[in-house]
Amino acid sequence: MELNDGKFLFQGGVDPLNICEQYGCPVYIYDTSIIKRQYDRLNNAINLPKSKINYACKALTNINILKFLQQLGAGLDTVSIQEVKLGLKAGFKPDDIIYTPNCVSLKEIEDAMNLGVKINIDNLSILEQFGHLYPEYPVCVRINPHIFAGGNNKISVGHIDSKFGISFHQVPHLKRVVEATNLKVVGLHMHTGSDILDIEVFLQGCEILLNTAKGFNDLEYLDLGSGFKVPYKPNDISTDIEELGQRISNRFRVFCEEYGKDLTLMFEPGKFLVSEAGYFCSKVNVVKQTISTVFAGVDSGLNHLIRPMFYGSHHEIFNLSQPNNKPRIYTIVGYICETDTFGVNRKISEIAEGDILCFKNAGAYCFTMSSNYNSRYRPAEVMVHEGQAHLIRARETMDDLLRNQVEVNFLEKSIV
Ligand SMILES: *Cc1c(COP(=O)(O)O)cnc(C)c1O
Repeated sequence: MELNDGKFLFQGGVDPLNICEQYGCPVYIYDTSIIKRQYDRLNNAINLPKSKINYACKALTNINILKFLQQLGAGLDTVSIQEVKLGLKAGFKPDDIIYTPNCVSLKEIEDAMNLGVKINIDNLSILEQFGHLYPEYPVCVRINPHIFAGGNNKISVGHIDSKFGISFHQVPHLKRVVEATNLKVVGLHMHTGSDILDIEVFLQGCEILLNTAKGFNDLEYLDLGSGFKVPYKPNDISTDIEELGQRISNRFRVFCEEYGKDLTLMFEPGKFLVSEAGYFCSKVNVVKQTISTVFAGVDSGLNHLIRPMFYGSHHEIFNLSQPNNKPRIYTIVGYICETDTFGVNRKISEIAEGDILCFKNAGAYCFTMSSNYNSRYRPAEVMVHEGQAHLIRARETMDDLLRNQVEVNFLEKSIV
């Protein structure tokens, strides 16, 4: 979305205010041209005979987004059996889906196996049980390289205390399990966290994975996970994807030569592909001046966009209705009966009640983390594609709040 003659417009001239008027607020809007731009960037940055980008769909699971990425050529990274099923429904081939769960039951892994997807196992106990039962089913193993990466503790998953992956210090044990069960390990995987800035740290993790890979003879692919940081503010730093792609490709080519086989290099970005494509629009209900602060209270809250409260994430906020007023300082809050502050002391074009505020970087981990807290409906989702706006999820209604609730008849004798 760009400011054009004092008005914010999507590529192709679609007016976000029209979308808000037609579908109501709050509403999530996704611009497919940005998803494509990001996919192409990463794809062009990798220069190898065999590579695959698997979209980590927990970031945003609307089926139309999945279909769009499938058409671009992406595979899918999934973390639950339900995401696997969504991916299959969206048209991904089983072989293009990798299932990377954490602390799920053997039963769920068996279900995924029966759907024919790639299985990525992240602990020795389940690997051993799986290997005894299904030695012929090829697996990937998640290695934890113990590098500290990631924007903060909650999203850093590769460190020593992390629950994710099999420690690279346990590789001898891992090999014993593989030998004893005759498991066919066709992939090794790492994913160290979100918001990784330092390419050197990423390369260090990669080195550990390559080193581990030398000890496995049946490999077909190596999955380097994701965690690329995107900009959240004007002039914000972000992962230099072009440099990262080039350096990893160079390193990987040398490795494949030593290994004696061209393996597939896989990445599995979520945020990088969809974060910047998303905008969240919410209407200002109240402008409230207290002794110390001017609050703008919007018709949304942590029920729809929890990242600022959950992670302390920064989302740029601008006045979509009146972008050209004199800027003033506001604290933007929600309508939930909890402290749900979206942003403190933000400089925003002067706000009148009824104005629509727009939150940036609302594509990843926003709608997928939304809830019905305070018995509010989850918002609508709209996709802007080739100059047209499409409703891709209707706003919920009272029926949705009551669905699956089972009413007991208190007048029946058996209850009393
Ligand atoms: C969440 C997740 C990703 C995606 O992380 P981003 O920071 O959104 O790129 C990739 N791989 C796995 C295994 C994940 O759990």
